Amino acid sequence: MNRNVLISGASIAGPALAHWLGRHGFRPTVVELAPSLRQGGQAVDFRGETHLTVLERMGLIPELRRIQTGGSPVRFVDELGRTLLHLPAEFTGGEIEVLRGDLARVLYEHSLPYTEYIFGDSITSLAETSSGVRVGFQRGASRDFDLVIGADGLHSNVRRLAFGPEENYVSHLGYYAATWQLPNDLGLGKGSIGYNVPGRFASVGADHRNPAQAGAFFVFAAPELSYDRRDPEQQKRLIDHAFSGLGWEVPRLLGTLHQAPDLYFDSISRADVDTWSTGRVCLVGDAACGATIGGMGTGTAVVAAYVLAGELARAQGDHRVAFTRYESRLRKYARGCQAGGDRTGKFLAPGTAAGIRFRNTVLSRLLFLNGMLRLGEKVSSTVALPDYPAGPSRVSR
Ligand SMILES: Cc1cc2nc3c(=O)[nH]c(=O)nc-3n(C[C@H](O)[C@H](O)[C@H](O)COP(=O)(O)OP(=O)(O)OC[C@H]3O[C@@H](n4cnc5c(N)ncnc54)[C@H](O)[C@@H]3O)c2cc1C
Repeated sequence: MNRNVLISGASIAGPALAHWLGRHGFRPTVVELAPSLRQGGQAVDFRGETHLTVLERMGLIPELRRIQTGGSPVRFVDELGRTLLHLPAEFTGGEIEVLRGDLARVLYEHSLPYTEYIFGDSITSLAETSSGVRVGFQRGASRDFDLVIGADGLHSNVRRLAFGPEENYVSHLGYYAATWQLPNDLGLGKGSIGYNVPGRFASVGADHRNPAQAGAFFVFAAPELSYDRRDPEQQKRLIDHAFSGLGWEVPRLLGTLHQAPDLYFDSISRADVDTWSTGRVCLVGDAACGATIGGMGTGTAVVAAYVLAGELARAQGDHRVAFTRYESRLRKYARGCQAGGDRTGKFLAPGTAAGIRFRNTVLSRLLFLNGMLRLGEKVSSTVALPDYPAGPSRVSR
């Protein structure tokens, strides 16, 4: 029986999977490249029955309700701060919205009783043997595991090692996104304020729990850029360049970028992998079917972790059966959710002044907003969720 499972990545999919594997009697180990749990990122949301059912079965709803943001309405303004469009909290925040860093911490805590965590390391080689996988690490000694799961995001290391180069699987959707924390010197209240010029969106909102802090969220259109994903200073220069010369509060916000310790910067891209597993290696979350922003990646990752662990338990660890069932249950669902991400960049930062005016006019109609909301809930609930009997949750604090 395949009990020892190595998971690469400790953000959302990794800890969620470790939690479920632990409750089904497996022994998960999670290796994370960062030296500790990564903070940062904006709010992420859960919407529709399927997401909430999984969170409920994980025993997370009361805690997430305690720390939820309550949704983040966005007011789009012109150069002088006059309102052009108001997106209500339900539209942006789903049924439960939490900061990504808070969610990662809660999932981590709920997986700790069952999981060995290794921070500051990364897999360098995967060699399948007749009974398992011999795994080489950048820093630690080689170890043997029964199965290896890539939960290491859109730029997955496991996918590169086991399936091939990233360019075969990830398509750039023409935009980049950045988030960082800054002092709330603008006197911001609830919600965010956003400003557009063609191909650019700059926004800022107060932190719901610490009003002295705020979060910036910038999106810009650009062809694929060549940069070092591990060099935040280089990424800051790219953002600075993309927004230089813009009005409104942009210069003030850019002025805080250089001190930001928690920059999140990535392309808006999607991952499409023909088959989510090869031999004893399988992918979950953004590594398999990510869509950066707007594709319900967080909800899909949590649902996929639940199904993958459940199918492994149901098949008594037989990965061939479990990986096939996991994928056949979820592939169509994940595709449907992912499609929302294809529109995010164009929605936030339309390429022309006419495009911005059109968005502001059409979206100010409540009927349209309600329709979009219902569509999101429907898409995120189109999968039949089996009940996989599992042991009780044991949270450690
Ligand atoms: C710091 C951060 C901020 C984010 N901010 C936002 C945001 O503002 N808006 C949004 O929509 N989405 C954001 N995301 C992405 C969002 O979390 C995912 O789209 C979604 O939740 C699915 O999560 P995931 O666990 O599959 O992937 P991710 O959340 O991308 O997590 C992947 C994890 O794998 C780790 N990792 C990467 N390479 C290796 C390696 N070689 N070895 C070991 N571990 C590795 C990463 O450090 C990370 O912890 C952010 C992700 C991170 C890590």
